[in-house]
Amino acid sequence: MNKAWLSAQQLTGQDPSHLVQLAGGEQLQPEAASAWKKLCQQAAAEGIKLAAVSSFRSYQRQALIWQQKCSGIRPVLNQQQHTLDIEQLVGWNKLEAILLYSALPGASRHHWGTELDVIDLAVSPPDYQPQLLPSEYQPGGVFEQLGQWLPEHAQAAGFFLPYREYRGGVAAEPWHLSYQSLSSRCFEQLTLDMLEQALLRQPIAEQELVLAHLPAIYQRFVQTLCEPTA
Ligand SMILES: [Zn+2]
Repeated sequence: MNKAWLSAQQLTGQDPSHLVQLAGGEQLQPEAASAWKKLCQQAAAEGIKLAAVSSFRSYQRQALIWQQKCSGIRPVLNQQQHTLDIEQLVGWNKLEAILLYSALPGASRHHWGTELDVIDLAVSPPDYQPQLLPSEYQPGGVFEQLGQWLPEHAQAAGFFLPYREYRGGVAAEPWHLSYQSLSSRCFEQLTLDMLEQALLRQPIAEQELVLAHLPAIYQRFVQTLCEPTA
């Protein structure tokens, strides 16, 4: 295992001091920011205007999303994009439903400054609100071209798609890009104990339920992902 080079606070989204901010608002680790700029240039040469709708997200921000999902203020969707009645779900079933699309605060890869959710501004109408649905990236979808281009070109630029397809944890997210050399180190270094400490320090909605199921959450929704293709 590599020596830790980020603190537990940085790995769990409680300290953004390792990040730089780009002109477009993206917050990334410096090396990931350089690679992202290069990828944008490559895409532009092929008529794709890459843009990030999300990069770094803090623990507090994720905790707010989490709370809104737990209380039903934000819709909780299943893989068929049907809204679930969250008030009917209890225990592990409730956590599982939310975790399909929303990471546990402290456990989001977006805390690391290595991840981006991307769209193509060249094809979206000015008033278009990206939904971040797989159908937008599939044939016939508004981001079809990007959906094909990304898996073919991300790797050469140092990125991969950890949620390229569903592997039993997080749902397929063909828009989620990860800067591999740095994110693989974060992935190795983020431990169950760090997650527990972050939660104890800043409790979240359904705290007791989450703590009771934390090892299972870590296994299925943090550790389970698509490996980079060689
Ligand atoms: Zn994402």
